[in-house]
Amino acid sequence: MSLNGPLINGKWLETGEKFTSVNPATGEPFAEVFAANGEHVSLAFEAAERSFREWSKLPLSVRLEHFKRLKTVLLDSLEEIAKTIAVEQGKPLTEALLVELLPALDSLDYYIHRAAEHLEPLKVRHWQVLFRDKKAHYRFEPIGVVAVISPWNYPFIIPFLDITAALLTGNTVVFKPSSVTPVVGVRIAELFERAGFPDGTVNLLTGRSDVGQAIVGHESTRVIMFTGSVETGRAIYRMAADGVKKIVLELGGKDPAVVMPDADLKRAVNGILWGAFMNAGQTCASIERVYVHRDIYDDFVEMITELTARLKVGDPLEPSTDIGPMTTASQLQLVKFHVREALEDGAKLLIGGEEFGRGFFYSPAVIVDVNHEMRIMRDETFGPVMPIMKFDSLDEAIALSNDTNYGLTASIWTRDRKTASQFIRMVEAGTVTVNDHVFSFGEPEGAWGGVKFSGIGRTHGRFGLLELVNVKFVSEDYSRGESKLWWYPYDERLLEVAKLAGTSMYSESHSSKLRATMRLMRHAGLLLKKVGIKLLALNPGRFI
Ligand code: NAD
Repeated sequence: MSLNGPLINGKWLETGEKFTSVNPATGEPFAEVFAANGEHVSLAFEAAERSFREWSKLPLSVRLEHFKRLKTVLLDSLEEIAKTIAVEQGKPLTEALLVELLPALDSLDYYIHRAAEHLEPLKVRHWQVLFRDKKAHYRFEPIGVVAVISPWNYPFIIPFLDITAALLTGNTVVFKPSSVTPVVGVRIAELFERAGFPDGTVNLLTGRSDVGQAIVGHESTRVIMFTGSVETGRAIYRMAADGVKKIVLELGGKDPAVVMPDADLKRAVNGILWGAFMNAGQTCASIERVYVHRDIYDDFVEMITELTARLKVGDPLEPSTDIGPMTTASQLQLVKFHVREALEDGAKLLIGGEEFGRGFFYSPAVIVDVNHEMRIMRDETFGPVMPIMKFDSLDEAIALSNDTNYGLTASIWTRDRKTASQFIRMVEAGTVTVNDHVFSFGEPEGAWGGVKFSGIGRTHGRFGLLELVNVKFVSEDYSRGESKLWWYPYDERLLEVAKLAGTSMYSESHSSKLRATMRLMRHAGLLLKKVGIKLLALNPGRFI
C-alpha cells in the first residue's frame, strides 16, 4: 500500500521521500507513506493560521454542526479503521473497537451535548467591595494553532480526541502521528476531511521525529499537546519554554494496583489481568506493579498465573485473540531486557516471557520475588509483564505505590470504603480508581493526566478543554462617579484611609474593626466622593 502523507490546506501531497510502517504480526512492511519536510511544516502552519481567522470566529453552535457530521462519518468507518489499527499497531480487532473507537464516538457525543456548558461565557461577581459596581464574566477564547503530536500505542483515540478538543475550542491543528502508525494518522485526517471541516483546520504532517521537532519549534505553534515518552516530553518542554508556548504533556507511567485482603479476589484477578495485559501492556496506564496483601498473596498469584496461561496470544484480526503482537521490535527488546535483568537479580518467572512467531509476539509474563531496586519495578516496561510484590499494611502499600518518579493512575481493590478513601487521599496520581483500572480514559467527563514525570496538564472533559483556551477575564463598569478611591491624587488622607480600611475590612477583632470603621467615617467626604454612596450603602458589612 502506498499513501499520500501530508495533508495541507485540504490537499494531499506526494513528497520526495517515503517511509515504511510495519505489520507487527508479520514483521513485514505494511505501507509506504510520504514524509513531510521543513517546507511542508511552514506550509501547514500558514494554512492553519489562515483557517484560524475564520474558524475561531464561528459560534460554538456552528462548530458543533461539524462534529455531528464527524460522528456519523466515524460511525460509518468503524470496522475499516479498527482493521487498520489491528494490522498497523497490533491490538486485537475487538479491543480496537472497545478501547479506541467506541470511546471516541462517546466523546464526540459528550462534546456535542456538553461543550456549551463548559465554553459559554461564565458570569462571576466581583469579590472586592470596591469593585462591586462592575460586572464581570469569563470568556473562553481560542488561542491559535495547536500542535498535536502523538504516540503509536493508541494511534487513533489519543490524537483524534486531542484534535477534536482543539477544534471545538476554536483552534486549528497541525497534527503529527507517530511514524510507527502513520496510516491510522492518515485515516484520522480523512475523517475530518469527509466530515467537511474547512481546508486548513486539520493539517497532517506524516514523518519522523525531525518533523515533530520542527513543529514544536515553529513560531506559530501556540499550544503543544504532546503524548509520548518522558524523554521526548522533556525535550519538547525545553523547546516550548523558548517560545513561551502553552503545553500539555501526557507521558509515561508505572501504575500500581493494590489488592487488600478483603477484596473480591476473583474480580481483582480478572481486572488486574486486563489492566496489565490489555494492548499487550503498551498502555501508559497499564498496571506495571501489583502489590498484594500477605494474607491473600498465594491465592492471588495462583489464580492470576492460571488465567494468564489461558490468554490467547495471536493474530489481531482473529475475533478470539486476547493479545496481539507488541507493536515494535525495539519495544519487544526493551521488555525482554527488563525481564532478563530482573531474573538475573533473583526474580522468578511463573509463566510467559517467551518470544514467538514471525512478528513481535511475546507471551504475557507473571513475575514474583521482585523488589524496588529492580528496573522492572522502577522504569516503564510498556509490555505484557506483571511483577507482583507482597505487603503487610495499607501504609506500606501506599509507600510502595508512591515510591516512583511516575504518577499517572493507581487502583486499589477492596470492599472497604474507609481503606479506599485513605488510599485515594494518599496516593500520588492523576487518577485513582477503586476495583477497576485504566477504563477512565474512555470516560469523557474524566480529566486525564498525571503528576511527577507522568506529565503536565489535562486532556478530556472540562479541564481538558480549559487547557486549550485563553481564559479571558472581562470586567465592565458603567457606574457614575468621577474617580475611584485608588486613583490619583495620593495624599495623607488617602494613606490614612488605606491603613484604616485594612483593619476595618479584614481584622478578626470586632473592637479593632469598630474603632477603625469609626475613624474611617471621619473621612466620609473623601470616601463618598471616591467610592460613592451606593457602594457604602450596599456593602456596609465589609466595612463594619
Ligand atoms: P515517543 O516520545 O518516542 O514519540 C511520541 C511522538 O513524538 C511521536 O510522534 C514521535 O515521532 C514524536 N517525537 C519524537 N521525538 C520528538 C522530538 N524531539 N520533538 C517532537 N516530536 C518528537 O513516544 P512513543 O514511543 O511513540 O510512545 C510511547 C510513550 O507514550 C510511553 O512512554 C507511554 O507511556 C506514553 N504515553 C502516554 C500517554 C498518556 O496519556 N500519559 C498515553 C499514551 C502513551
